[in-house]
Amino acid sequence: MPEAMVETRASDATRSASTQVVDVAVVGAGFAGLYILHRLRKAGFSAVVLEEAADVGGTWYWNRYPGARCDIQTIDYSYTFDPELEKAWTWSEKYATQPEILRYLGFVADRYDLRRDIRFGTKVKQATWDDTTDRWLITTDNGASVSCRYYIMATGCLSAPKPPEIDGVKDFKGEIYFTGRWPHDGVNLKGKRVAVIGTGSSGIQSIPMFAQDAAHITVFQRTPNFALPAHNGPQPAERKTMLEGDRAAYREQARWSMAGVPYPQQTVVSWQLSDAERRERFEKAWAAGDLVHILTQLWADQGVDVDGNAIVADLIREKIREVVKDPEIAAALTPHDHPFGAKRPCLDTNYYATYNQPNVTLVNLRQEPIQAITATGIVTDKRSFDVDIIVFATGFDAMTGAIMAVHPISGRGGKSLSSVWAGGPQTYLGLTVAGFPNLFMITGPGSPSVLSNMAVSIEQHADWVVDRLVALRDAGFTTMEATETAQAGWARHMADCATLTLHRLANTWYTGANVPGKAQGVMPYTGGVGPYRSICNEVVAQGMLGFKLTGPNVAEQCNDGEVVRLQPDVRLVLGMLAQMNLPPIETMGAQGARDFLNEFNKARPAGRPVGEVGDGMLQGADGPLPYKLYRPATSGPHPIVVYFHGGGWVLGDQQSDDPFCRDMCRRTGMIFVSVGYRHAPEHRFPAAAEDGYAATRWIAEHTTELGGTPGRLLVAGWSAGGNIAAVTCQLARDRGGPEIAGQLLVSPVTDCSFDRPSYSENGTGYFLTRGLMYWFWDLYCSPADRTDPRVAPLRGKLDGLPPAFIATSEFDPLRDEGIAYAEALAKAGVPVEQLKARGQFHSSFTMVDVIITGVNGRMKMAQALRRFADLPADASERTPPPREINVAAG
Ligand SMILES: Cc1cc2nc3c(=O)[nH]c(=O)nc-3n(C[C@H](O)[C@H](O)[C@H](O)COP(=O)(O)OP(=O)(O)OC[C@H]3O[C@@H](n4cnc5c(N)ncnc54)[C@H](O)[C@@H]3O)c2cc1C
Repeated sequence: MPEAMVETRASDATRSASTQVVDVAVVGAGFAGLYILHRLRKAGFSAVVLEEAADVGGTWYWNRYPGARCDIQTIDYSYTFDPELEKAWTWSEKYATQPEILRYLGFVADRYDLRRDIRFGTKVKQATWDDTTDRWLITTDNGASVSCRYYIMATGCLSAPKPPEIDGVKDFKGEIYFTGRWPHDGVNLKGKRVAVIGTGSSGIQSIPMFAQDAAHITVFQRTPNFALPAHNGPQPAERKTMLEGDRAAYREQARWSMAGVPYPQQTVVSWQLSDAERRERFEKAWAAGDLVHILTQLWADQGVDVDGNAIVADLIREKIREVVKDPEIAAALTPHDHPFGAKRPCLDTNYYATYNQPNVTLVNLRQEPIQAITATGIVTDKRSFDVDIIVFATGFDAMTGAIMAVHPISGRGGKSLSSVWAGGPQTYLGLTVAGFPNLFMITGPGSPSVLSNMAVSIEQHADWVVDRLVALRDAGFTTMEATETAQAGWARHMADCATLTLHRLANTWYTGANVPGKAQGVMPYTGGVGPYRSICNEVVAQGMLGFKLTGPNVAEQCNDGEVVRLQPDVRLVLGMLAQMNLPPIETMGAQGARDFLNEFNKARPAGRPVGEVGDGMLQGADGPLPYKLYRPATSGPHPIVVYFHGGGWVLGDQQSDDPFCRDMCRRTGMIFVSVGYRHAPEHRFPAAAEDGYAATRWIAEHTTELGGTPGRLLVAGWSAGGNIAAVTCQLARDRGGPEIAGQLLVSPVTDCSFDRPSYSENGTGYFLTRGLMYWFWDLYCSPADRTDPRVAPLRGKLDGLPPAFIATSEFDPLRDEGIAYAEALAKAGVPVEQLKARGQFHSSFTMVDVIITGVNGRMKMAQALRRFADLPADASERTPPPREINVAAG
């Protein structure tokens, strides 16, 4: 249907005389709404912005409490779309105050003449999609409703203040204020007794300021937060020089970084550093007064590993104790219930020192909860406090509050967004929702939003949306709608990302825990700003993957699917490998490939400490072989696991899977003996197989000397090593021992056929390629020998084998032969457990501390090995399993 006809029908059906008709309606005139309006105008769309406030600014219009500042350095927390704008504005401080940021946004509005298309003092109440006209009708509390083709909610992640949950607020006869709705002409606190409820970011910023003026302030704290000194002042010279040295490169680096601020990725892990080195890094970060710095630059495991995180948290706790003189108050102010960074840490100016002032009282609500607010003050179950003013610094109904406050938002078939989101927000990319065509959310739940420098995320979202609208128009489409498949895939990806970081371990406003009755789950996308950007770009590059597009004169287009099926860390690693543009390993020659592997292994994080690591020699099938032994720190004897490394019978050695052996030694509480068996092409089939068996015999015979538990011998291996482990079990059965209590086969080679689907589905692009496997086979084994069970154990006799745990990865050419072996073993009556790892690739489990999502699999492997050895399944691992939570959109 031509656009003109649509317009005519729209005017009949959905417009009254007082309806404003535009291409695009935007709600909100903060950072996001202003930039979108600018972009829409430049792209030739008619647009209106509807804003409840009396002027532009959003967050910075409403949050006028004393001490309000940004906590991302202002040099980074700025628009970057126009270099001329950047030149025209100079920030006066490292962290600008609210008035300065508000002036900046006003300056932007003036510079691009934005106010003329903004209807201030206009609150959007409802939004209704009309299936017949393919338009939204937006109703407001002030003036004309709006009929628009596209509806963009730039309503802000932190713009719906959380109402107080305490009885009796209405009875209070004094003054009540909310930090998020602070009066424009300020509040006179001089000589007043002030109660502050809440110690989140707003409380932490405002409490020291209140304490300067008020006669007395009483702070009611439910949960202490980590806060770091901002060390505010002039813009730090170092970052200013970096920016001014190459502005475009600096901004580009921010766009592709994890948090939207250009910092390098940290690679050193905590256990590689001495106490003194860690202390030095920490003190430097403390002195820098920069959240992103301390959250990302100490050591690589601080945000993903509870042990690595605990080190930072303890150092911060030490700082709190140093500043706060009263030990009881210091203890109450010290957070213990969440990892550092899992809840948004705050930047402060004299926050902790404020509690040394005589006019400041801290009330620990964990010990004396508030009973009620009365006419004169606040009553806890131990005391009552008479006050003149109560300030609620209780935060926001974050991320979904302002969206859900527009009610109803009725999509296709009259479905309401609040009912669709009753169990938690569901989105595709945090930008769109299936069933709600042409609705876009800026920094919505499911996007990096509050876990990023929002200025960067807002520009990315606004650009992506406006670019899509232009592309739709150019192609004649008038609607764009996420598919259910894409949305469900995004929920899975979100959940996968959430298991990577420690956010899942804290009850915070990131998870909706601060609002009673709100569905719980990690709402922001935790996979990082740069990866997120690349995913959004990939959606476009793959023909609007996961979107249905329709238009009156064009055929419907729907390229359905999931944009990310890999685990997030696998995606990152494969992306980095692709960028390295390496020649295929099989073209390097055997020695070249070995050299390459050695170099490659040097770049990985050092394996974690175990009780003892030692080298030795054992007797192989045709001479001595080196081995490496990993002994747990617990007192022995321990069951022994004979381990065979991966490398296609050609590459690797007894130490090439060092991080894996260490990790499994720690998790199982068992000795791992990694065997340096002979390699092809120097030693072709059956050298590796025979060495594997001979080594196992030797270790069985020397169990006691090695510190092992007699009769508790297991075998394990990865890839070609899995092949050797499987073969060893068959040979031990057929050649009179030794007795093997269990076998762990990780992505094993089990057969010589290349016909199974995984060989074609995953033949390229996942590091282990079909070509590389052909090469390994050619170097190791002549075609005539390939059906021998000593290289193709799937073709051997399978009954009477030890119980097995077989792990396979979805994106691995070897996936299907591993599954086939598990199924064949089960058929032969062998007890088998299978792990079919979704989104993983061939190397996932051995890339310890790189592919973090491999942890769950290794935990299961360790539990299986312990069961095989008749030990209780809960091993000695120190990292707790990821807590099961209902991840947003999940
Ligand atoms: C105190 C504070 C400090 C912060 N510091 C930082 C920082 O340092 N770095 C950082 O990255 N982020 C920070 N943030 C987050 C901040 O919210 C974002 O950086 C950014 O300002 C969000 O811009 P926005 O345009 O998306 O939303 P907002 O600025 O929240 O603007 C949304 C606008 O939509 C309007 N609106 C909402 N619903 C309706 C409706 N139904 N009808 C009409 N109008 C409506 C609101 O009135 C508001 O003006 C901070 C937030 C707070 C509260």
